[in-house]
Amino acid sequence: MCGIIGYTGSDGAVSKVLCGLRSLEYRGYDSAGVAFFEGGGVRVIRSPGRIASLEARIDGAGGNSRCAIGHTRWATHGAPSERNSHPHGSDRLQLVHNGIIENYAALKEDLLALGYAFASDTDTEVAALLIDFYLKHEADKISAIRCACARMKGSYAFGIIFSDEPGRIYATRRESPLIVGVSGEGCYVASDVTAILRETRDYYRLGDGQIAVVDADSTTFYSAEGEEIQGEIRHADWDAEAADRGDFEHYMLKEIHEEPIAIERTLARHIRGRLPFFADDGLVDARLRECSRIRIIACGTALHAGMYGRMMLERYARVPCETEIASEFRYRDPILSPSDTVVLISQSGETADTLAALRLARAAGCYTVAIVNAVGSSIARSADSVIYTCAGPEI
Ligand code: GLU
Repeated sequence: MCGIIGYTGSDGAVSKVLCGLRSLEYRGYDSAGVAFFEGGGVRVIRSPGRIASLEARIDGAGGNSRCAIGHTRWATHGAPSERNSHPHGSDRLQLVHNGIIENYAALKEDLLALGYAFASDTDTEVAALLIDFYLKHEADKISAIRCACARMKGSYAFGIIFSDEPGRIYATRRESPLIVGVSGEGCYVASDVTAILRETRDYYRLGDGQIAVVDADSTTFYSAEGEEIQGEIRHADWDAEAADRGDFEHYMLKEIHEEPIAIERTLARHIRGRLPFFADDGLVDARLRECSRIRIIACGTALHAGMYGRMMLERYARVPCETEIASEFRYRDPILSPSDTVVLISQSGETADTLAALRLARAAGCYTVAIVNAVGSSIARSADSVIYTCAGPEI
């Protein structure tokens, strides 16, 4: 996991990106880097270590830049070093990446045969140079990005700037989260809403395969097929303080202390006239009545919560209930029937294994219910109905 942020708008883009990177440091912190437009070109500064080391290296550079992208890394391919830090690219583009390009080795072979040279050991540089390759053969940047992405297997969220389009950021994703934030003073690209809460609470969630072209005052969205589409603006209920660690030693401790209030907020939404009320979440009584078995699928702590749910469901609803870790479920060819209700639990709503389990369940005609915290996340959007927990930003 790592954190991506980009900003285009007024002066001070580099310091806005640094500020966003600090809030994303929980996603990765072994190295970091920025790329920004300066004096008619693109400048890249990278550093091993935490954001503070990068900041020292930047030392106020790019003060007048109006557009920058940044990255805080948690290495998967290539040691955490300066040469492997993002951004990666060529004289035509610079790119930051969150995720893993699983077929990077084969793609690298192809690019080497085409005469490309590599300056890092990352899978990310392969993605960057593949886009560079298609730039030379495709009519426009959207097509080049689409062609390159079509050849990649794995997960990615990309923030990309092209040397010949100052002030513009391209963004796309598959299975790694990415949002586009909008403020009166510019637009953002980020891995997580918490990175932009100090500047704005208005944002779009990019769907799998979609591409956003982000300018200072407008954003255009394209479908995975390359057609222009309308984005759906969302408003985060959280403010910057909610995403702040406050006086707590670390985030987990803060979040544990917030549990009682989070439970109260969640339950309050679901009690009307002293009775349980789920109609607003799209839960269909008729579907639930048909249900002969409940499967709760999740990972980690969400799975533990599911085990508690199983106990309650069997005791009170008297419906057979099973729990299973999503990372096993998706690979073991489970027997599913349309009379199964499958409950998926995920804080972020982006947990890759849980999302894959949800897709399996939907394909088998099961009734799917998501329990997630992040509004509008992939799991929330793909399930038949969704129950939101009101835990606020979880770091
Ligand atoms: N795979 C990329 C790298 O190792 C991105 C890492 C990540 O998203 O955590 O640089």
